[in-house]
Amino acid sequence: MDQVRFDRPRRHLYSSFETTLPSNLSAVVVDPAHLCTEPPPSLKPAGKPNLLCLFCSKIKNFDSLVGYWGHLVHKHEATDTEARLQEIRRTAVVWRTYWEDYSDGGKRGTKTREKISQAEEDTFDWSMVLDWKLR
Ligand SMILES: [Zn+2]
Repeated sequence: MDQVRFDRPRRHLYSSFETTLPSNLSAVVVDPAHLCTEPPPSLKPAGKPNLLCLFCSKIKNFDSLVGYWGHLVHKHEATDTEARLQEIRRTAVVWRTYWEDYSDGGKRGTKTREKISQAEEDTFDWSMVLDWKLR
């Protein structure tokens, strides 16, 4: 088979790489210690529960508990209040459990913790939710 010949363009001082690469790739040696064999860590913190809106017809997931509750207050005004209260109570328990298992014990989310405690009280009702003035 004839080798295809490329003429060096006139302005190029040196031969170009039409037929050969400038380096031999097989000469590259990778230290096995530098190979990534572990699966990449999940972006989601371990154990973090999903907050999927029960009342949306499309899947809507929330990162923040308070964000989800605000969504329940403002985007589902037509939904039965008792059903929304029940969902707030349910997710409060889920979130408290998550924090107990995984929290670093920092101050993060202190206001949310107060809301979770309120949501778990027997006297919890819709007026308390409105008092939170969620956005
Ligand atoms: Zn929704």
